[in-house]
This record gives sequence, structure tokens and C-alpha cells, in this order.
Amino acid sequence: MRSPLVLFLFFFLSFSLHSQEIKKGDAYAYARKIVDTMASESMHGRGYVKDGDKIAANYIKTEFEKFKLRSFTPDYYQSFAFPVNTFPFVNFFTWSKIGDLEVGKDFIFSPSSGRAVSYSPMSEVIWLDSATYHDSKSLKKFLKKDYSKNYIAVDFEDRPERELITLLDSKVRGLIFIKHKKLTADFEQGSDKIPAVELLIHDEITLEKLKASSFADMSFDNKFIPDHASQNVIGYVEGSEHPDSFIVFTAHYDHIGQMGRAIFPGANDNASGCAMLLNLARYYSMPEHRPKCSIAFMAFCGEEVGLLGSRYYVGHPLFPLKNIKFLLNMDIMGTGEDGITVVNGSVFKTEFDKLKQINTENNFIKDVKIRGKAANSDHYFFSENGVRACFIYTMGGIKAYHDIYDRAQTLPLNEFENLFKLITKFGDYLQN
Ligand SMILES: [Zn+2]
Repeated sequence: MRSPLVLFLFFFLSFSLHSQEIKKGDAYAYARKIVDTMASESMHGRGYVKDGDKIAANYIKTEFEKFKLRSFTPDYYQSFAFPVNTFPFVNFFTWSKIGDLEVGKDFIFSPSSGRAVSYSPMSEVIWLDSATYHDSKSLKKFLKKDYSKNYIAVDFEDRPERELITLLDSKVRGLIFIKHKKLTADFEQGSDKIPAVELLIHDEITLEKLKASSFADMSFDNKFIPDHASQNVIGYVEGSEHPDSFIVFTAHYDHIGQMGRAIFPGANDNASGCAMLLNLARYYSMPEHRPKCSIAFMAFCGEEVGLLGSRYYVGHPLFPLKNIKFLLNMDIMGTGEDGITVVNGSVFKTEFDKLKQINTENNFIKDVKIRGKAANSDHYFFSENGVRACFIYTMGGIKAYHDIYDRAQTLPLNEFENLFKLITKFGDYLQN
């Protein structure tokens, strides 16, 4: 039991700390700290290698606790599980006369890739071109041969990776998909028997060099997790007048994670959205900003695997979905020199028009662009189930996406402060 004096000091200190007005630049400063932390090596890309997602969930939970958010569950967590294919162990991928290739920079794994066993000496790489693939007669001829001692390199853009893997499974030692622009990592909820990698052409690794001596060897283990235990992190501030009515802010906190040593930091996607979510949680938990209706803050996991956390939530809501007045999902909040796009803006035109009007009146950001329905983030299963829900993302600036270059150091957060003001003003409108 604490003494009355300690209790008094505790309340006095926590109230005076808590009631400080948010000063100009505060949202940015707090966002910078969150993005730096969530995109740091310690979170392992917030995926399913080295417990990245759990470390990130715990960080958000700790911030929720600081703001004394209420919880629907004992610990802010809503647990669920899903299957996912991961790549924790990478030995090497080497090409004759070029040498060892670097995971993340030179190559990544196709989402459903199986494991690769090293063979000595190197295996010959056979090239499959577009003309052969798209002509049924020549493809048939190509497929007749036995490639069990070969890798097949696929160098044309308009090929379906999935189809080729299915077509060549068990006929080939492994597949190498050549990429010319960038590497973009993704997930699959299953794994194949054969290994499949995506190899990027750049200044040091040209097609000429690759074709001059086409022999390769690779060794890595995928780890398919049939039942990865994960969690959404959800807290709320109770409304002073209409506690049963909710405004909901959402952002996914998961990202690609790690492939071997390569970390996909996910600063823009979506540490930046978490930074907005936590800024809003901090703001609305201050007594002077207490909302009239309740406001819930939902940080979802499994988004990159297929909107899994939000889909689970919609199937297992913690309060009736019909009590949600409006939901705003935030994913990719880190730039904004070209403004923002509002997905579902044309579906929920009243709210879109209001958001645009607030922006025009206050001159916050360059543009608020309208877009229709799209299944591209966590708003989707909500609006499909009758909830008024939009999704905003920033436009312009750096193009790093699902790669090792989406880093905190290069993420400008240049419109973050303005965006925060726009969203809180929009929040004021939604409460009335
Ligand atoms: Zn995202």
C-alpha cells in the first residue's frame, strides 16, 4: 500500500505531465522517435523472424500504457494466428565469375520459395525467354527436358511467377526470376518444394555478366510457420458524452521482417502510420482533448501477409461494428509533398468532402485526392462489412517500398505535423 503523500505526488506529477499542451513541432518530434525506434534493427523489420512483430506489439502496448488508454482485453492484445513462409537462414547464393550475391540488395526470395540445397560443382543456369514461354509449342518442347540438375533463369516481365513455379515444380533444381527495376518483397501463406529467388540487374550485375558464365549455387532454409501466434494491439479513450459511439483510427505495425541478415525496416510502411496512431492516442488521452464520443486506436498485425489482423478483428469485434461512426486507416504517412490520397473517398463522399474542405480552409497539405474502393490496406474488411471507413496515404518523395531502403534515416516526415493537424481537426468534426 502506498502512503497518501506518495499517492498525491503521483497524481500531481502525472496530471501536470499529462496536461501539457502539444506545442508546435511536438507531433513531428514524437513521430521521429517512434519511426526511429520501430524501424531500428532491434525490431527486425517487424515480421516473423526473431519475434520482430512481438517486439513491435510490446512497444505499442507500452506507449498505450503511458497514455493510460483503456483496454477491451486484459493487456490491449487481441490474439490470433496465421500461416506464413519465412526466410531466417541464408547461407549463400553465388554466381560463377561474379561471386557471392547479397540478400536484400542483389536478391530476395520469392514469397513461397522452398529451401535450397547446395550442389558441388555449381549447377548450370538455363535461360527461359519470353518468346519460348508465350509460344505453346516451344514451351511444350522446353518443358520436355529434365532440369533437375539446373536452375532456370526467367527474364521477362510479363510472366506469372506463381504459374511458372507450378509448371516447373519437381522438374527443376530452382528458379531465378530476373528483376530489372527494383526488388519488392512480399508474403505467401504457403511454401513450395523448389527454391525461387528474385535477382536484381544493376551496374555490377548486368545481364551480360550473368549470361557470360551461367553457373550458380545456393543454400538457404525457408521456415514455413503453419500457426504463427500474433496479436492486434487495441486501446481506447472513453467519450465524455457518447461513450458507446466510436471513432476508430487504425494502422498496421507489421512489415516484411528479415531475410537472413537483411532487414526490411518499413519506416514509411508503416512505422509512419503507427507514429500517427500513437500521436493521436497521446493527443486524445490528454484531459483537455477528451472527446465527446469514444476513440479507439487499433494497431494491426499481418497486414503485409494479406490484411489478416483487420480481417480477424472484423470477424471478432471487441464492440459492435455498428457503433463505429467512422474509421480512418493510416498507412504510409512519411512523405506528402504531393499531398494525400483518400481510398474510399468516393464511397464516403460526405466525409471526404469535409476532409478536403478542412484542408483547403487551413492550407495544411498540397492536395487531398479522391480514390474509389481498393483492397490495399486495413480499412477494406471494415467497409466491406458496413463500416464507414477510409484509408489515407501520402504521395510524392522517396519511392522505397517493401525493400531494404525504406529506412528511418531517409524518411522525411515533412508533412507529418500538418497531417496531424488535419486529422485532429477532422476528428473534431467527426465527434459532432
Ligand atoms: Zn503498409
